[in-house]
Amino acid sequence: MTVLEDARAALETGPLCDACLGRLFADRSFGLANADRGHALRVTLALEADEPFEPDADCWVCEMETDRIEWWAEQAATAARGYDFSTYQVGTRVPPLLEENDALLREDVGLDEDAGEQLKTEFNREVGKRIGQRTGAEVEFGRPDVQFTLDLATDGVDVRVNSAFVYGRYRKLERDIPQTKWPCNDCNGTGLWQGEPCEGCGGSGYRYDESVEQLTAPVVQEAMDGESATFHGAGREDVDALMLESGRPFVIEVDEPRVRDVDTDQLEADVNEFADGKVEVEGLRLATYEMVERVKELEASKTYRMDVAFDAPVAAEALQDALDELTGATIHQETPQRVAHRRADLTRTREVYDATGELVDDRHADIRIHGAGGLYVKELVSSDEGRTEPSLAGLLGVGAEVTALDVVDVEGEDEPFEKAAFLKE
Ligand SMILES: [Zn+2]
Ligand SMILES: [Zn+2]
Repeated sequence: MTVLEDARAALETGPLCDACLGRLFADRSFGLANADRGHALRVTLALEADEPFEPDADCWVCEMETDRIEWWAEQAATAARGYDFSTYQVGTRVPPLLEENDALLREDVGLDEDAGEQLKTEFNREVGKRIGQRTGAEVEFGRPDVQFTLDLATDGVDVRVNSAFVYGRYRKLERDIPQTKWPCNDCNGTGLWQGEPCEGCGGSGYRYDESVEQLTAPVVQEAMDGESATFHGAGREDVDALMLESGRPFVIEVDEPRVRDVDTDQLEADVNEFADGKVEVEGLRLATYEMVERVKELEASKTYRMDVAFDAPVAAEALQDALDELTGATIHQETPQRVAHRRADLTRTREVYDATGELVDDRHADIRIHGAGGLYVKELVSSDEGRTEPSLAGLLGVGAEVTALDVVDVEGEDEPFEKAAFLKE
């Protein structure tokens, strides 16, 4: 059957709008919108039959829903007012009754059930196009800034605003600051114990008053005018360790931001003022959600600087020999005793890429270790009673202990975080 013959059969089923008529042949005729194609078919059929041209004022298939494309676009644009977005996506919930009408029309005309295009697809595209014209934003199918869902049954538009992300590196310049909020164990973070303020935390609900998260995320949340913010770090240092030099990568995720295009230089200055010298951030940039996964790959390599104390005098030459021995070595580590209660006991191997340092006096040294992610560096120094092999203590033949530990760099195993494709601009 030709398109014209099928179109004539379709018009005999009852009143039909141009869009529903044209939609039947969306897979057999290209380059026209469904409504234009339907109109052209109707005109052609009227000329052929030598009858006056007369469009239908009603449609039994879509119940004239396609007449409201502009209205839906207006509803969507209004629903998203107040939110910054440059990408969006449209989904449509079509009532089962209308879907059945689409199937019935095809059956009546003698076409396949999936002939042409679905009403839902037409809506997504046509409303989508008009939202773009109204807002200047673009359709994106991956993870758009905003997701619209049109519900034809209720006339409602649901707007889901996806998170925005800011990447950067932080330095922690004071000890005893955890990376993220640390709820008090005594009261499970409630601040109360048997109806009284919890003694463990003074009623705050937190084991520590401040965290890197609490010193940074609220400023980003405020700048983006979001509902909440979450801190994602590329691993974390011990609470009592500093994070120095090039710092540790992180991403702050802001939920339901009203503002996305923030000035990251200004934001950096604002965060640093708020964090008041306890924490510093650097290199803030807007990022995509993939950057969260990237920083959460915990096997990033790290460089540590530490103060080490020996229980017997050590000669400079012996220390240098031991450090040379450790450079490039594969270390076998049983789960450290200090964490054995939390993790399954197993032996694993990690590389030491570089070990350098010098004596401060014959019982103290300043050591730097660059090692693979997951290397237990305190145990690399102490040997953990022989559970780590080789170790600095073992090679020197004296007891050795880390008295202060700082992380000075964190890198991806394969490439620097800043080279990742998930940063904007
Ligand atoms: Zn229709
Ligand atoms: Zn408490």
